[in-house]
Amino acid sequence: MKDYFKEQPTKEGFFGPYGGSFLPEHLQQEMDRITDAYYSISKSHQFISELRSIRKHFQGRPTPVYFAKTLSDELGGRIYLKREDLNHTGAHKLNHCMGEGLLAKYMGKKKLIAETGAGQHGVALATAAAYFGLECEIHMGEVDMKKEHPNVVRMRLLGAEVVPVTAGLKTLKEAVDSAFQAYLEDPVNSIYCIGSVVGPHPFPMMVRDFQRVVGIEAKEQFYEMTGEMPDNVVACVGGGSNAMGIFSAFLEEEDTTLYGVEPAGRALTKGEHAATMTYGRPGLIHGFKCYLLQDDEGNPDPVYSIASGLDYPGVGPEHSMFKDQGKVVYTTAGDSEALEAFYTLSRKEGIIPALESAHALAFAMKLARERPRSSILVNLSGRGDKDIDFIVENYGLGG
Ligand SMILES: *Cc1c(COP(=O)(O)O)cnc(C)c1O
Repeated sequence: MKDYFKEQPTKEGFFGPYGGSFLPEHLQQEMDRITDAYYSISKSHQFISELRSIRKHFQGRPTPVYFAKTLSDELGGRIYLKREDLNHTGAHKLNHCMGEGLLAKYMGKKKLIAETGAGQHGVALATAAAYFGLECEIHMGEVDMKKEHPNVVRMRLLGAEVVPVTAGLKTLKEAVDSAFQAYLEDPVNSIYCIGSVVGPHPFPMMVRDFQRVVGIEAKEQFYEMTGEMPDNVVACVGGGSNAMGIFSAFLEEEDTTLYGVEPAGRALTKGEHAATMTYGRPGLIHGFKCYLLQDDEGNPDPVYSIASGLDYPGVGPEHSMFKDQGKVVYTTAGDSEALEAFYTLSRKEGIIPALESAHALAFAMKLARERPRSSILVNLSGRGDKDIDFIVENYGLGG
């Protein structure tokens, strides 16, 4: 177990039958270059100490673990929150964007390229680009640009170029295609930065490794507060990066149960949810193998969740392996449960959570009711400021 992170993934990027890299030859060569650079550069003392300093002085790490006492007293179980909402830019995503940006700098790249759906990954990457003095190009569907206007303004303020994508449905899938195209035009000077533990090797490994800081901190902080290991660790799963971050520190703790919470949306019919591992089957998307919501021909199904950071039809390959191994229990929470948790945490604890994180919280609240006295560590992956206009307009002030 000690060497888990050295042994997984394999050299070719496989976690059991999942992951890998299924790309055209010329793109594969670029991925191999990134993999080689990652292995050689990211293990160097200089890289590690620079990233440490960035985390402490720029991002504001370590983020605290907080005991939600009011909520716990009411429910029975003890709920602890790893406060990634207090990480700079308000979510865990900056953890891997700063890592990817630093790697790009060491590789001599001039430009960071990515797609964004709701704009959260775009803002985090634009922040990293500004910090490192790199150019940044974010591809975003025109429909999403209208919906998420404040994030478009944020990215532009940070100096990023936001490229409107007008093809097809003008949302995330077309933005991925457009960003990939732009990257292919100049792979020497630019680097493609993926926003979760998904995509071809080395990204699932690299993003996981950059997110491990969340689990390493949380384990130590939880132990310091309680003198024990948590009985349960809970995180929401979109692509799976915040979940991999916190789970990574507890994989060898036999008495700790890990729960990944997928979005059950508004119904369990096709197109109304994004519970990939609960209802999907193995398939291929964006150059890697994983559980996938798909039709009979293997085309990705349309997906939906009230939390736009969770609506991806695939999922990280390492999670796919954990599901088969039974190492993590994957479960679901729907829109209405997430909303209830959103209102409850705001009122009872003075913390407005991201709608994504509210899915993890909804499940944790259920556990706390069922198991009085047991401890539950939740990864509060982000803050909810981005969601308040949408929620108040559509659902009111709650309570
Ligand atoms: C993007 C996002 C997620 C989902 O991404 P993962 O890779 O599954 O962690 C979860 N929470 C917040 C706050 C996000 O911005």
